[in-house]
Formats: sequence, structure tokens, C-alpha cells
Amino acid sequence: MRLTVTVDYAAITRNVDRLRACASGSALMAVVKADAYGHGLVPAARAAREGGAAWLGVAQPDEALALRAAGDTGRVLTWLYGPAVPARELVAADVDVSASSPEVLARIAEGAREAGRVARVHLCLDTGLSREGVRPEGLDALLDAAAAADDAVRVVGAWSHLAWADAPGHPTIDAQAEVFRAGLARIEARGIALEVRHLANSAATLTRPDLHFDLVRPGIAVYGLPPVEDPSGAAFGLEPAMRVTAALALVKDAPARAGVSYGHDYVTPRDTRLGLVSAGYADGIFRSAGNTAEVAVGGRRHRIAGRVCMDQVVLDLGPDATERAGDEVVLVGADGPSAREWADWLGTIAYEIVCRFGGLKEKRPA
Ligand SMILES: *Cc1c(COP(=O)(O)O)cnc(C)c1O
Repeated sequence: MRLTVTVDYAAITRNVDRLRACASGSALMAVVKADAYGHGLVPAARAAREGGAAWLGVAQPDEALALRAAGDTGRVLTWLYGPAVPARELVAADVDVSASSPEVLARIAEGAREAGRVARVHLCLDTGLSREGVRPEGLDALLDAAAAADDAVRVVGAWSHLAWADAPGHPTIDAQAEVFRAGLARIEARGIALEVRHLANSAATLTRPDLHFDLVRPGIAVYGLPPVEDPSGAAFGLEPAMRVTAALALVKDAPARAGVSYGHDYVTPRDTRLGLVSAGYADGIFRSAGNTAEVAVGGRRHRIAGRVCMDQVVLDLGPDATERAGDEVVLVGADGPSAREWADWLGTIAYEIVCRFGGLKEKRPA
């Protein structure tokens, strides 16, 4: 056993329920891309449905098809692919698809004809993120392509994504919302009655009720990690779902001035006891965490002593340590550091921490 990733799926259910209360009046799409941010695609999706997620969102088509294969029958949207999109399979599986270009829209129409069904399409508008989506000057061509394929394609949605939603008050948020509203007006002027208009990620779901439209698309908050500070300090009532643990393989005495791990980046300041944790960078512990990140044993925090190795790291437990080989080491969890702390230590975001720890492992239910 190296790292163990435990996921409290009931927490995901409660988080979705709270986010729904926060966006009452709009439906909720739980974003479960990237193996549900490392939490396990199928069980996380099931938990989100239980919390009332009418929609699930994934980047990759294979993730959408995996949800169907697992028996999910609710609304699912996928948005990231090129002309090689498996359009026939997606339409046959009743998965909603996004279109960012006339070329992809034509491929979707072809796939829909092959499947003998009408594709449900969401037009993706690039309102200023410069990632997926059509820029305003290309929207007419995309609408023309949809009109030309109206035997095979029904435009049911229009959506966009924000660049700076995690910086509440940033001027690009309103600017993007304005471009989005102008795009919606142009789509509706073509006589298209949109079922769902959607813009808000977690940050906008939590801080911008005016941008909820018909559907909100939170990801990180579903897993209990708010991307913005709650002014009340209550983390919006969200509960982190992931716990990451390892075990002490060995505890031993070491004298003062002992160099620890490769390159001796840590030197014991006094006689002490060292603990060896049997997990390293091959298990997802960032190498940059050496001498930086902390873990907890029995509720006591210890900074990783020296460099992270491929399969192991060392802790300086202190001269009075009572820890023993076999004790649990908490890397992320309620009785140890949070994913947010790891992000701050390593100069990244909590998203990367949970994707990394969860990405390599089997997930166990709590
Ligand atoms: C990842 C993603 C989301 C969710 O973003 P969070 O910041 O995790 O809430 C929503 N929409 C799109 C298009 C995304 O790629």
C-alpha cells in the first residue's frame, strides 16, 4: 500500500445539494471531467445525481460514453474534441454535444444522420477566454451551418466560460457576460428557442447570482473546494470529499547533523527520530514538496524533510516522537493539511492537487 485515496461520496451529494440551493431557479450541471477531478468518474457522478444534479458535464466524449455505459440516463454534455468526434456514438447515446466551429457542427450532423436521430447541440461562444468556442465574428457562420443541418441538428443550448470568475469584481466578468448576452440575442433572433443558456463555473455560481442563467456548471465546488473565499469564513458550507493517506514504514533514531534524503537538503538540527513514509513522486507526491509541504501523523504536523524520492519521503518526527511504523500519515484530510494548503505550498491551485493525488489511484468510498 502506498497512497490511499478515500472519497466521501456522501459529501459530494451534500455539496451539490448546497450548490443547488445557492443557484435556486437554475438547474445544476456537476462537472465530472478528469475522472471527477480525481474523485472517480462513475461514483462521483452517481453522488452528484443524488444531490440533484440534472446535468453532468465532461470535457472528453469517452467520459460521456463511460457515464452511459455505467447506466446514467440523465442529461450529459461533452465539449472538447475536434472533427474526429465520435458523433454517431454520442448522438446514439443521447449525449448533448457542444459545437465551436462549422466544421465540427457538420461532423455532428453527419453522425446524427448515421445514428438516425437528431443531435442536441449547445453552441459554444468564446466571449473572451480565447479557448473553446466561436468568436462573435464567427457566430453567423456557425448559425448558418446549424440551419443548413436542421434535419439532423437541434440547437438546444448556448454557453460560454469565464476567464476570471475566481477574482470577484474583475472587469472581464461583466465584459464577458455582455458579449454572452449579445450572442444569445443573435441566436434567438434566428428563431432558435434555447432550452439552456449557461455561463457560471463554481466561482460564479457562488458569487454571481445574476450570471446563473438557466444552468450553472460547478466543478471544483462539487468536491468541496471553493475557488473563492467565503467572506463569512464558512467555506460556503462545502465539505472536501477527498482524503489521502499513506503509512509509516519505519521509525528510527538519528543523531544531530544527519543529512536526510538525496542531496542532504535537510540536516537534522538535533538528535531526533525519523519516520519513513512509503510513498513518493511516483505515487503523486509532487517532488517540489520537499522541505515545503506538511503531512500529519496522529494530528501532529511534520514538514517533509529533504527531497521527495520516487517511492518514499522522510519526516523529522522530533526527539520525543511516539509514532510507530504502521501509523497512518495524512497528506490531505480533515485531520491533516487541506488541498488548498498544498496548493499554497506548491504555488498551484487545489484543482491540480486533487487531480494529481486522485489521478493515479483507485478510489475507495469512505
Ligand atoms: C472545468 C469547467 C467547469 C467547472 O469549473 P470549476 O472552476 O471547477 O467550477 C465549467 N465549465 C467548463 C467549460 C469547464 O471546462
